[in-house]
Amino acid sequence: MKKHNFSAGPCILPQEVLLQASESIMDFNQSGLSLIEISHRSKPFVDVIDEAKDIALDLLNLKNKGYQVLFLQGGASTQFLMTAYNLLETKASFLNTGSWSDKAIKEAKLFGSVNELASSKDSNFNYIPKDYTIPSDSDYFHCTSNNTIFGTQIKDFKESSIPVICDMSSDIFSRDLDFSKFDLIYAGAQKNMGPAGATIVIIKEEILGKVTRNIPSMMNYKLMIDKSSMFNTPPVFSIYVSLLTMRWLKNLGGIKAIDEINKTKAIVMYSEIDLNPLFKGYAAIEDRSTMNATFNLTNNDLKDTFESMLKEAGVNGVNGHRSVGGYRASMYNALSLDSVKVLVEVMSELETKA
Ligand SMILES: *Cc1c(COP(=O)(O)O)cnc(C)c1O
Repeated sequence: MKKHNFSAGPCILPQEVLLQASESIMDFNQSGLSLIEISHRSKPFVDVIDEAKDIALDLLNLKNKGYQVLFLQGGASTQFLMTAYNLLETKASFLNTGSWSDKAIKEAKLFGSVNELASSKDSNFNYIPKDYTIPSDSDYFHCTSNNTIFGTQIKDFKESSIPVICDMSSDIFSRDLDFSKFDLIYAGAQKNMGPAGATIVIIKEEILGKVTRNIPSMMNYKLMIDKSSMFNTPPVFSIYVSLLTMRWLKNLGGIKAIDEINKTKAIVMYSEIDLNPLFKGYAAIEDRSTMNATFNLTNNDLKDTFESMLKEAGVNGVNGHRSVGGYRASMYNALSLDSVKVLVEVMSELETKA
């Protein structure tokens, strides 16, 4: 039986995507060859990467606005340093909202000075700081739109006169935003887009070429753009499955449609957390993530009972991250409302038992 997969990452993908992906491994588009045994420079694969770039811009409503799409390797973690390598000349400003922001800050410090505008570290990142303004004298502003570990999400992005870089690893393609407010968006594929291996980078080309340092080839956005993400062999399988997921999303009605679905799932989830006295939410209410809901039991004696009930119901992957504890229900795009209802039912059944 297929489980209800609340894994934080790598995570759930649509069933039809998994089916198409497995077919492509055996016989890609009736070519008599596997997707993973053809040249990345052959027409069938070039068509894949071209469509993937096009559909990504289409979903984000960024077509013909000066943006380029890259599919790189090394995960979002490599983007922590690659952004700084290419864009940090003297000083960058950061909003610190969790472990991933923290790591991005650490890498950027290797390249210049870092101005931490605000941080919620003092309360183990359970809220999004709002009392700050983005200065005009930094090379760029960096933020993390969704904090996968702590379950918080930026709802309002501040006005900025400098380039805005956003790590959207765990909420890319999940909600309706004005994406043209961002100059560089990056995301590891494995949360909301596809299997691990590819990292999508959507970049406004005009922000490049302003630093004076020499940039090694594999770290150089301009070179990657010029070589259409094919300076070296790209992660072909991850890119193809990401394309399938983006096609699935487009057929569903795109970002506006998934935004509605994700909001509904979040309402069902958080209502149970708030109404059931056995549970308490972790994140500040106004900053709650629609992707990752973090919560704790109010009475830890119920832990074993709750967890065996979850297992019985086929609920997988809801254990919290070690730095927060408790539980985390990740409700990425491909997770159905029905799966959320199954989890919520287990939670309310626990209340009747307790
Ligand atoms: C998972 C995650 C990362 C790290 O991604 P890798 O691809 O494993 O390097 C970075 N930022 C956020 C917000 C994440 O959720």
